Amino acid sequence: MKTPLIDAHPDDPSEGLSRRELVAGAALATAGLAASRVARSAEPVVPPVAVASANGLEAVRRAVAAMEAGATAVEAAVEGVALVEDDPDDITVGYGGLPNAEGVVQLDACCMDGPTMRAGAVAALEGFRHPARVAYEVMRRTTRVMLVGDGAAAFARSLGYPEEELLTDKARKIWLYWRANISDGDDWLTQPGETDDPDVKAFIAKHGAVRPTGTINLCARDAAGNLGGTTTTSGLFFKIPGRVGDSPIIGAGLFVDNRVGAAGSTGRGESVIQIAGAHTIVELMRAGRSPEEACLGALERMVDATRVPYLLDGKGRPAFDVKFYAVDAAGRTGGAAMWSGAEYAVCRSGAAPALVDCAFLYKRDRDDASG
Ligand code: ASP
Repeated sequence: MKTPLIDAHPDDPSEGLSRRELVAGAALATAGLAASRVARSAEPVVPPVAVASANGLEAVRRAVAAMEAGATAVEAAVEGVALVEDDPDDITVGYGGLPNAEGVVQLDACCMDGPTMRAGAVAALEGFRHPARVAYEVMRRTTRVMLVGDGAAAFARSLGYPEEELLTDKARKIWLYWRANISDGDDWLTQPGETDDPDVKAFIAKHGAVRPTGTINLCARDAAGNLGGTTTTSGLFFKIPGRVGDSPIIGAGLFVDNRVGAAGSTGRGESVIQIAGAHTIVELMRAGRSPEEACLGALERMVDATRVPYLLDGKGRPAFDVKFYAVDAAGRTGGAAMWSGAEYAVCRSGAAPALVDCAFLYKRDRDDASG
C-alpha cells in the first residue's frame, strides 16, 4: 500500500514509495542509518567505496561504514556528510557555515540515487543544519526534485527537523570583519583589534584576499554495486542573498548514473553550472575515460568556457579554482582541480580513509592569486 505523498502528482501515483520505505527512511533522518538494513541477499556484495572533497576524510569513513552495515550508496553519502554539516569548525557547510552578505546562513544541497536516477535538492534553506537530509527527503517523499527558500524550510519543518540559528559566534565575527573591510566608502567602520581575534586571524591567514568557497561532495558505490551521491554547502562566502551555486543543481554539483558513474564538484559554482560539470564528467566516463581523465576533461571545457576578463588572470587562465571528484561503475575513483595543490578523500572497505593528490591543469606559482 502506498502512503499518501507530499505534493504527489495526481496523474502519477506510481512514483511514490511504500510505507515500509518511508518508515525506514525516517530512521535515517532522526537517528542515522538503521544498521539492520542489510544488502539484499540476491545482490552481489562488492567492497564499498566513497570519494569526497578533502574536508570529507571522516565522512568517507562514515559512508563506507554505513554501506558495510547495509545502507545504499545515496543513504551512506547523506549520512557521511552529516558529520561535516554538524562540524562548527567547517565554515563551508551546515552549522557554522559562513553566511550571506546580510549575515544569514543559507544552505544548498542535493542528492541522487544511481539505480533509480531519482534526485532531491534544496536551495537557500535557512535554519536547518542538514540540508542533504532534507534533499534526501525531497527525493524520497515527493515526486519533485528541488525546493527552495521558505518552501524548503516549510517542508523540513513539516517533517519535524529541528529549526535553529546556524550562525556561530565564529562565523559572525568573520562576517563582521568582512563587512567592515569590504570597502572604505561604505557605512561600516573597521574596529580596533578586530584582526587580533584568533578566528578572524586564522580566516585571513587561510584565505587572504581571495573570495573563499567550500563545500562537501561525496559520491559512493555500495555493496550491491549501486551508486549514489550528495553535495552540501553554505555556498560562496558572503554571497548575495538568494544566490544559489552549483551544489544543489543536478547535473552541475552532482550527477549519478548507475550504468556509468557518479561525479560532483566544489569551487566556483557559476563556472560549474556553465559547463554542467558533473553531468559532463559522467558523459566523459560513458565515452570511456577514467574518472580522473573525465574530471580533467570537464576542467578543459571550463577553461574554454571562461571568456570574460574578470575571471582570467594575467596569463589568460581561470582566476579561480574548481575541483571535481568521481567514481565509476567499476569502483575506480579520481579527482582533478584547476590548480595544483588540491587533494580529495577516498575510503575503500577494509582500508583507512586517505587523502590523494588531485590531478590538475595548472601548476600554481607563488604569485598566483587564484583561490
Ligand atoms: N560550489 C559552491 C558554490 O558555488 C561553493 C564551493 O564549493 O566552494 O556555492
